[in-house]
Amino acid sequence: MSAANYEIYAVKYATRAAQRRDHFIGGDPHEAPMPMDYFVWVIRNRERLFVVDTGFTSEVAARRKRTFIRDPKEGLALLGIDAAAVEDVILTHLHYDHVGTFHDFPNARFHLQDDEIAYATGRHMRHDRFSHGYEVEDVVGIVRLVFKDRVTFHKGESELAPGVSLHHIGGHTAGLQCVRVSTARGWVVLASDASHYYEHMETGRCFPTTFHLGDMVEGYDTLRRLAASPQHIIPGHDPLVMERYRAPAKALEGIVVRLDEMPIG
Ligand SMILES: [Zn+2]
Repeated sequence: MSAANYEIYAVKYATRAAQRRDHFIGGDPHEAPMPMDYFVWVIRNRERLFVVDTGFTSEVAARRKRTFIRDPKEGLALLGIDAAAVEDVILTHLHYDHVGTFHDFPNARFHLQDDEIAYATGRHMRHDRFSHGYEVEDVVGIVRLVFKDRVTFHKGESELAPGVSLHHIGGHTAGLQCVRVSTARGWVVLASDASHYYEHMETGRCFPTTFHLGDMVEGYDTLRRLAASPQHIIPGHDPLVMERYRAPAKALEGIVVRLDEMPIG
């Protein structure tokens, strides 16, 4: 195994009941449940550790009626990770469910796309259809961190370390980025909300919260170009991720799955 290969984990911290019609522009002809899971991700090898996204707090979960399972930092602790010691956090975008516990990472540097901070603080936030996915206190909190030089901005593609790179996709939000990771099974791509569910990228349909529909659809091609195969793309909110991958230990079943190993099904 090359030194530049990483282990990747998805840590589930919340869930919510939802219907198929909630998840597609234009709705869906089938009346059926389609629950949504919420994750943070971990990328690590002997030398480096990256946390991808920070989830939301129990307060925001209650207000937005999400089923909170555990604080994201408690989920990370199950993998032996102390959030207070984490040095690098990748923020795929600034939506409430991806940035909400940033304050639990007091020693981290946050990696964000230029386009995301511009979008989250600019003219489009006047409109509820674009602002509803953000918590203004999160956005302001990240701006404060910019002034403390704790945010590293990226534009388009950048390599954070050998085998870990960021790729601007846009679409869902103007500055959404995905993460490409070298693993023993090849290049794995953490899509985050570039594809909420497997079904979005497989059928070319779009999640209703979308800034730019064209970029969203182009983004599916970008994911496929970056990943070793479609089986190497990890959607951001699909409960199937918990079924298709194995827990790293019996005690972590239903909480954590390992994404650098081949899927079971
Ligand atoms: Zn989002």
